[in-house]
Amino acid sequence: MKIHEYQAKDLFSSYGIPVKRYILCHDTGEAGIAYDALSMEYVVVKAQVLTGGRGKAGGVKLAKSREDALLHAGNILKLTIKDYPVNKIIVTEAVDIGSEYYMSFIIDRNTKSVVLMMCAEGGVDIEDVAAKSPEKIHKFPIDPLVGVPDYLARKFAFVMFKDISQVNQMAIILQKLYKLFIETDASLAEINPLVLTNQGELVAVDAKMTFDDNALYRQPQVLKLFEPTEDEKVETAAKEKGFSFVHLDGEIGCMVNGAGLAMATMDMIKLYGGTPANFLDIGGSSNPNKVIDAMTLLLKDPKVKVVLINIFGGITRCDDVASGLLAAFEQLETDIPVIVRLTGTNEKEGREMLRGTRFKVAETMGDATRMAVEASK
Ligand code: GDP
Ligand code: MN
Repeated sequence: MKIHEYQAKDLFSSYGIPVKRYILCHDTGEAGIAYDALSMEYVVVKAQVLTGGRGKAGGVKLAKSREDALLHAGNILKLTIKDYPVNKIIVTEAVDIGSEYYMSFIIDRNTKSVVLMMCAEGGVDIEDVAAKSPEKIHKFPIDPLVGVPDYLARKFAFVMFKDISQVNQMAIILQKLYKLFIETDASLAEINPLVLTNQGELVAVDAKMTFDDNALYRQPQVLKLFEPTEDEKVETAAKEKGFSFVHLDGEIGCMVNGAGLAMATMDMIKLYGGTPANFLDIGGSSNPNKVIDAMTLLLKDPKVKVVLINIFGGITRCDDVASGLLAAFEQLETDIPVIVRLTGTNEKEGREMLRGTRFKVAETMGDATRMAVEASK
């Protein structure tokens, strides 16, 4: 689960990590009030969207006057950044930037631990640094039993800074961010840029946090911050119907029983040059209502050109599935091509029932996938 910069900054503040004052706004009127309330000449207007790269997309602007701030607020509120429409912004105290650093704690599966990452060249080009000169990014795995005690915090801080005042500030930020990371079951806590101001103080100018979804049951304070995207709303609704559903960008809608088979189906689609529109595991049973729900879900996506139904009949019998499909499609109004692959218990009977109907029947997964990819082109 992701949260907005302003929400992450609230968490930072409550743990004592230095951030500048900000005010959340939804329109230019509020931005004007915010500008006056901050009573600073220079402010920064920042899009609040659940994606990075806002700066490069024009979603972060320095304003040198009230007029400037209103102009930027109006423009930023019209932006869509990587498919996320900007509905809110913050107006925040501007920082007099000396230099920009990068730091984060992240779960690292290779070392099976939390890893601290630091780089003296932070800012909007950190991806370039990581790609072109990965040696500039310092990584330290954190032993979960040891954590980040004073001596380690200082050791890490000395990697970034020489000046003792900066080392001291950095050591404190390192310890506090680690504490926040652990106590909220985060999977990422990132400060980019961590700014050294021309006045010599370290400030978190940006704040990014991601949390482990599987831990949200014990993090009610974090869960409260959840703002589902349109896709996530659909996925949550699907979950309530007993499906696991993930929306993707392709054209072939998939309805499969079993997560493993659903993954394999997506792989096959890719192999034959098609693109899956979704991952959908409808679980066992041949209940026509389930098929109706699943089809309704798939047909909501206007990109879907064809539906591939891939069923392995184990406990569920293929003839039951076939009659479920027939019953369901009597109630569905769609002329989209539907390819069905049935295999397993009573497969012959099942396929026989579907022959000569609206369904295109395939025996093997290869045949079914090829037919679906062809129909999608
Ligand atoms: P991101 O692009 O989504 O990561 O947004 P950031 O919050 O990291 O801002 C992008 C860049 O805008 C930063 O790297 C800074 O260079 C610049 N920036 C952000 N806040 C300020 C500020 O208060 N003063 C100045 N001078 N630049 C800022
Ligand atoms: Mn940033």
